[in-house]
Order: sequence, then C-alpha cells, then structure tokens
Amino acid sequence: MSDRILAAVMTAPRKPIEIQEFKRPDLPHGAALLRTARSEVCGTDVHLWHGRLAGVPYPIIPGHVSAGTLAAVRGPLRGIDGSDLHEGDRVVFFDVHRTCGRCRACTVHRTPTRCAARRVYGVTDSADEGLFGGWAQAIYLEPGVGLARLPDAVSFDDYIGGGCGLLTAVHILERAALRPGDSVVVQGTGAVGLSAIALARLGGASTIVAIGAPAGRLDLARRMGADEAIDVTATTPGERLEQVRSLTHGEGADVVLEAAGASAAVPEGLDLVRDGGRYVIAGHYTDVGDTSINVHRQISRKHLEIRGCWGSEPGHFLRALSMLERYAAQVPWREVGGRTYPLDQLNEALADAESMRITKALVDPWQ
Ligand SMILES: [Zn+2]
Ligand SMILES: [Zn+2]
Repeated sequence: MSDRILAAVMTAPRKPIEIQEFKRPDLPHGAALLRTARSEVCGTDVHLWHGRLAGVPYPIIPGHVSAGTLAAVRGPLRGIDGSDLHEGDRVVFFDVHRTCGRCRACTVHRTPTRCAARRVYGVTDSADEGLFGGWAQAIYLEPGVGLARLPDAVSFDDYIGGGCGLLTAVHILERAALRPGDSVVVQGTGAVGLSAIALARLGGASTIVAIGAPAGRLDLARRMGADEAIDVTATTPGERLEQVRSLTHGEGADVVLEAAGASAAVPEGLDLVRDGGRYVIAGHYTDVGDTSINVHRQISRKHLEIRGCWGSEPGHFLRALSMLERYAAQVPWREVGGRTYPLDQLNEALADAESMRITKALVDPWQ
C-alpha cells in the first residue's frame, strides 16, 4: 500500500462527498492499519448526510462497519475473539471504541452503550484525526479497538451484508428475551429488520410476520425466515392488526420488534403485541418526531413490557460473527447488500439508499 491513502469525506451535511488524500499513519504500539476490502452505506449514513444525528464532528469519513486485511501491525495484536492477529489476516473490528469502563454508565448501571466517552468509527470520529472510517482505502485501528479474525466461511460480502444491521439485531433479540415458540412481528424490512427476522427464525420463533416495503425487500424478508410479509404501503393499520391476530390465535404477537424508524410504527406496534407481551423499540436511532399513544389502553391495561435498545456491545459483535460463521451459507445476508460502489460514486450510493432503491450499498474503495 502506498503512503497516500484515498478516502471519501463527508465535509458537512448535505454537501457532496469529496475524495481526499490522507497520509499513511504512523502506528503506535498496539495499533494496526487495515486495508479496507468492504464497507457499507447504511441508513445511519443517510441520516449523517442529512445532519440528523447530534454531536457529529464533521468532516468525517463515514463507514462504521467494515472489513479488510491487516496491512501493518505494530507489536503483538490479539483479537477479542482470542486469536493472535498478523499482517495478511482477514480482520473485522467493533466500530465502538474508547468506552471508558470507569463511569457510572459503564460500571454502576452496566449500560456501556450510554458511556459518554464512547466513540464510533465513521460516526463520531473526525476525519481531522485521521482514517477513522471505512469509506477509505485503509482504516487506522487504534490501540484498544476490538478486533476479530473473519472466519474462513464468511466472505467480505457476507459480513458487510449483515453489517451493522446484524449487530443491532443481535442486541434486539437479546432485549426481546425470545422464547422458543414465540410469535414475532418485525416492523421494518431494512437491514436491521431483515437480520432480526433471520435471528428470530434461528432463535426458535414460531410464526414470524414482517411488515415493510418495497416488494423486493418483502421477498427477501420471506427468504430470511418470515412466514408472512405485509406491504405497509398497500394495507391500513387496521388490516395489518386483523392479519396479525388471525395468525396468532386472535391475541396479537408475543413479541413485536420495531425496526422501522417511523413514529407511526410505535402506536401500531403497541396494538400488534398481545396482552402481557414484549415490545422492543430499536428503529428510532434519530428523532423522527412525537407520536400519540393511549397509555391506559395500549400499555397499562395490556400489562406490556416495553424496552428501548441503543447501540451494541462487543458481545453482540462477536455473536453476530458466530452466527455468520454458522449460518451465512443458508441465510441470504449477502443479498441485503444491493450493489457495490467505488469511492467516487458514493453520492449516488447515498441517493440510492435514501430512495430505497437498494437496502444497503456496499463500498469497495479499491474498485
Ligand atoms: Zn464509561
Ligand atoms: Zn450502520
């Protein structure tokens, strides 16, 4: 790899993505340089481009979940999967870093995703500090970043097809405390919803109903494991409620997972879940506005359990990897990735992701 490394930089919200040249970084002890094989353009990147996330230090190099080959390593390097890592190894990393491990959120409340020191590659790391994002030919892996070997059975396209959506889905299913035989409704058929469907199926769900759009994603939702896929644009909430009840002994689903990111999904989800059931809200990664619910009728009288879900932890990253290693051959994760774009076509990739022409764009910075 040369000393000049190209990266696609988001200089500010709504500005065109620019290709910039970065100097190859000097590596302190415990650091590494990853030659990027694949990164992704996900819904979060569209939100970043719209300026809808607080505390983003533009300019940034987006691309928070990425995979590649170690180009340079300084000192012995061990992954959080326990493997010793060397130059030439196929490696993936947990995008969340600098979680402090000492604050109240980390230690007292055991909610490290709410640690104030926490930073995320491609989201809250500034390009002024260097190659902290996957839309680049190489990524600087600072000391302490959680690394893991990419299993031989998992291709770069499998890994990025799952990507951040799969990590989030592992966390969602954990929050849902899914039991064998539970009926599940998944609201949203984007990258998070599709992986949630696959994990619910593998986790022993009985009936799985997906609600989303467009038709191509509903077809993929069925192949990821949904029994029924309802087009949200062609039905009313009342029709969807009737359909879900008809599939769940007239009760509603044991578990409803919100991965739609639309405010209207929440009052609907509260109706779709059965009395005493569980509702996990994970799609509201940005503030999409207020919504109106009836607390007596939709929560108290139903005796519901409602849980939020924010970010992910190293355990979700490693378990996502284990699921890919075991199931990538049978679950079509790679099909979640719609098309692969070079660095100089990422404006187009963002537009395609925004318009839902593709579920997720893959990035190959060497194409
Ligand atoms: Zn902390
Ligand atoms: Zn993402």
